[in-house]
Amino acid sequence: MTNVLEFLEQSAEKYPNKIAFADEENCCTWQELKEQAQKIGTALTKEVVMGSPVAVWMDKSVDAIITFMGIVYAGCFYVMLDKKQPLQRIAQILDTLEQPLIITNEYSSKETAALREFKEQETGFRILEYQILMQEAIQIEYLSKIRAKTLDIHPLYGIFTSGSTGVPKGVVVSHRSVIDFMNYFTDNFQITEKDIIGNQAPFDFDVSVKDIYSALKTGATMQMIPKRMFSFPTQLLDFLCEKKITTLIWAVSALCIVSELHGFSYRVPEKVNKVLFSGEVMPVRHLNIWREFLPNAMYVNLYGPTEITCNCTYYIVDRDFIPGETIPIGQSFQNEKVFLLDEEDKLVDKIGQRGEICVSGTALSLGYYNNKEQTQKSFVQNPLNHQYLETIYRTGDLGYYNEKKELCYATRKDFQIKHMGHRIELGEIEKAMEKVEAIHRVCCIFDDVSLKIVAFYEGPIEKREIVKELRKSIPAFMIPNVFCQRDRLPLTKNGKIDRAALKTSYQKEIETDKGERK
Ligand code: AMP
Repeated sequence: MTNVLEFLEQSAEKYPNKIAFADEENCCTWQELKEQAQKIGTALTKEVVMGSPVAVWMDKSVDAIITFMGIVYAGCFYVMLDKKQPLQRIAQILDTLEQPLIITNEYSSKETAALREFKEQETGFRILEYQILMQEAIQIEYLSKIRAKTLDIHPLYGIFTSGSTGVPKGVVVSHRSVIDFMNYFTDNFQITEKDIIGNQAPFDFDVSVKDIYSALKTGATMQMIPKRMFSFPTQLLDFLCEKKITTLIWAVSALCIVSELHGFSYRVPEKVNKVLFSGEVMPVRHLNIWREFLPNAMYVNLYGPTEITCNCTYYIVDRDFIPGETIPIGQSFQNEKVFLLDEEDKLVDKIGQRGEICVSGTALSLGYYNNKEQTQKSFVQNPLNHQYLETIYRTGDLGYYNEKKELCYATRKDFQIKHMGHRIELGEIEKAMEKVEAIHRVCCIFDDVSLKIVAFYEGPIEKREIVKELRKSIPAFMIPNVFCQRDRLPLTKNGKIDRAALKTSYQKEIETDKGERK
C-alpha cells in the first residue's frame, strides 16, 4: 500500500452504504465520501500543481473530510486552518506555505471576508468554493495519472504547532508514516468496522489523525462531537449514549472534564469500550474515576509528538494506580525505536536514570515545511549510529524506565529549572500536589521575573493545608512560593493546560499588585 486513498477505496468497496463520517448536521457513506472526494480531486487537478499544500478553511465537518480526501486525490497535501485563530497567525501559516490555494465551504461568511481583506494584497491569493468544486464531473483518468505519480514518501498533511521563535512550525507527514502507524494502531487496540469513534480533537491537531484514519482503514464510523458539549458534560454524555460511541481517542483534559464535573453520576456511556488518551500526563485520580464507572473498557496511555506521526509509545493500563504514581507511557509501537539519550548522547538503560526521549523509524515526519533550520535542529543523525544514515527525532521530553522496565514520561526538558541552586523538575512538584486529596488538577510554572515557583490548582483547599501535605513528600526548596487557586485551569485549543496563559495571568496579577501598592 502506498497511498492512504487505498484505505478509503477498500472501505468504500466493503461497506458502500455504511455511514463513514457524521457531524451534527451531515453524514456521508463510504461510497459517497469516495465519489465526492473524487469530484473535488478532479476539480483541483485543474487548479493546483501536484505536491502543493492546499489549505482548508472550514469548521470541523463532513465537508472538511471530503475536502481532505479530494486534495489527496489531486496529489496534494492538506492543511486545516483554525478559523478561530488570530488572522495574524493564519497569515504566518499561509506565508510558510507560500500562499497556498484555500478551500472554503462558507465563501460569504464574515470570517472569510475578514481573511480575504487581510490577505487580499498578496499576489496569488485564491479562495475556492467547496460547493462549486463539488459540481465537477469525476474524471478517473486524470486521477489515475496523478495516482501513478504519487510516492508514499509524499506529504499527506501538514499540522502547525507553536514554534519557540514565535512563528508556527508546519510538521509535514507522509502517506507512508500514516499507513505504517495506522496499521499497528488499529490492530493493537482492536478497532474494527463495528466501532463508532467519538471524535473530540480539532482537525488541526494530530489526535484527530487517529480518529480519521482509524475509520478510513477499518470502515468504522467517525462521529464528530460538537465542541460546545465539552462545556456541558450532561449533553456530552447524552450524545455518547445516543450515538452509541464505543471508542474515545481524546486529549487528557477532555476526559478530565467528565470526571471533574461528576458526569457519571448523571449517565454512564455503557457502550464505550476503548478509552485512549494522550497529550499530557493523565492524572491518576481522573483515570480511576473512569475505570470505576467503565470497568471493562480498555484504557491506553499514548505518548508522542506530532513530529513522529501521532504516537510512538503506548501502555495498556493493566493494573491499579494510586494518585501520585506514574502511569507508564509503556513500549514503542511496532517498527519504531524509542530510546533515551543522556546529556552526552550516551544511551540510557539504567532503571530510574533520566534521558531525552528519541525516536527513529518510518513514522518520523518529513520535518518542518519551509524551515530547514528548525528541521535540522530536531531531526538529526542518531549519535549512536556511525555506520549509516539513521535520522532520529529529539522530542525534548525526558523519560526514564521504572522497575518493570516500562518507559515513563518525566517532564519536558524545558520544564526543568534552577531554583536557589537546585535543579528542579516542575513535573515532580505537580506529582506531589496530585497526591493531595482535595486537589483536582494542578500546573506549576516558574516565573523568571520574580524567580518564583507558582502552583495553580483546582480544588477546595487552602495554601496552608497544601504546604503541610507537600512537606511529607518533597524537600522545602521544591515547595511552590505562590499558590493560586482557580475554578478552572485554562486550556489551549488542543485541550492541554495553557501554561503560557497561566504565566501571563500571574505576571499581570503582580503588575496590578505593584500598581495598587504605589
Ligand atoms: P503534540 O505534538 O501537540 O501532540 O504534543 C506532544 C507533547 O505532548 C509531547 O512531546 C509531550 O511533551 C506531551 N505528551 C504527549 N503525550 C503525553 C503523555 N501520554 N504523557 C505525558 N505527556 C505527553
